[in-house]
Amino acid sequence: PSMREERPVLAPRRPTRRIRVGDLSVGGDAPITVQSMTTTKTHDIGATLQQIAELTASGCDIVRVACPTDKDAEALPIIAKQSRIPVIADIHFKPKYVFQAIEAGCGAVRVNPGNIRKFDDQVAAICKAASDAGVSLRIGVNAGSLDPRLLKKHGKATPEALVESAVWEAGLFEECGFHDFKISVKHHDVVTMVRAYQLLSEMGDWPLHLGVTEAGPAFQGTIKSCAAFGTLLAQGIGDTIRVSLSAPPVEEVKVGTKLLEFMGLRERKLEIVSCPSCGRAQVDVWSLAESVEEGLKSISAPLRVAVMGCVVNGPGEAREADLGCASGNGKGQIFVHGKVVETVPEDQVVETLIKHAEAMAEQMRAE
Ligand code: SF4
Repeated sequence: PSMREERPVLAPRRPTRRIRVGDLSVGGDAPITVQSMTTTKTHDIGATLQQIAELTASGCDIVRVACPTDKDAEALPIIAKQSRIPVIADIHFKPKYVFQAIEAGCGAVRVNPGNIRKFDDQVAAICKAASDAGVSLRIGVNAGSLDPRLLKKHGKATPEALVESAVWEAGLFEECGFHDFKISVKHHDVVTMVRAYQLLSEMGDWPLHLGVTEAGPAFQGTIKSCAAFGTLLAQGIGDTIRVSLSAPPVEEVKVGTKLLEFMGLRERKLEIVSCPSCGRAQVDVWSLAESVEEGLKSISAPLRVAVMGCVVNGPGEAREADLGCASGNGKGQIFVHGKVVETVPEDQVVETLIKHAEAMAEQMRAE
C-alpha cells in the first residue's frame, strides 16, 4: 500500500492577499512560513550570517534582524545579499533606516506604528521606495509599545486597542495605494492575542504574522505560542508565524515547524509516537524513546514511529504507526504497519527500527 496518507484538515485558510517577502510569498495560498529573529548584533556581520545559516539549516523560512543603530543599517546590504533566506529589517524609531533597508535588498521591513509616530508624514515616501524596490512591509503592533493615544483611549492594550492601531496604520499605507504589507498584533497574554487576531481577520484581507510577544523561557513560551497559534491556525487565521522564546532562535524554529507539521499545515516529517509508560511497562520507555529519536534523527521521511512500553496495548497502539516496537520480557516486537515482522533482544530494538525506517524512507522516495 502507498505510504502517502490522506489527512483530515481543520478550517480552510482565511483568504488573504498575497505579498512577496524576498523570493517567498506570504498570504493567499502560499504555505505558512516560519520566522525567527537573530540575537547577534546585526553589525557583527560574520556572527549574524552564521546564526542565519544555522536558522536556515533548521528550517527557518524568513529571518528578521534588529536594526537599532547606523552600524546595523550599514550591515544590511551584505547580510541581505549573503543570506539564503529572505531578511526582514526590524525598524523602530528611525525612518531613515527604513529607506536604507529597502535599498539594501531586504525582503521586507518591519515598522512599529507605536514607536514611529513621526513616520506618518513619511508614509508616502516609504510607500514609493518600497513599491519601486518590490519590498513589502510588516506593520508590527506590540502591546508594549502601543500608540499612547490608543492606550489612553482604551485604558490598556486591549484587543480592540491593538487592532485599532493596526487598522489606522494600514489605512495610511493604503491611502497611498500601497497594499504589500502584513500585520501583527502581538501581546504576551494568549487570550488577548488570540482575540486581537480574530478581530483583525474580520476587518480586512491583510496577511497576518502571528506572534505572542515576550512569551517567556522555552517551556512556557512554547506552550503559550502553541496554544495561541493552534487556536488561530485551527480557524484558518495566520499566514506566517514567529515563536518568541527566551532561548536560542533555532529552538523557536523547531517549535514553529513542528507546530505546523502537527496542525497538518506543513508536510509531516518523522514523528515519534511514544507511550508515557505506566505500571505495566516492561522497559524504560523514556530512555528507549529518546534513543529511537536520536537514532532516527537523520531520517526526514514522514514516518510515524511508535515506541510502546509493553505488549498489552503496544501492538494496538502501534498499528496506527508506520513502524513501531513494543517491549516485554527483555525482547522487542517490531511492527511494520501493525504487523509483527520480527522479535529482537531489547538491546537491538533501536538498530532494528533504524534498519526498517531507512528501508521505508527509501521506498517512499521511490514512490
Ligand atoms: Fe502502559 Fe503499555 Fe500503554 Fe505504555 S503501551 S502506557 S506501558 S499500557
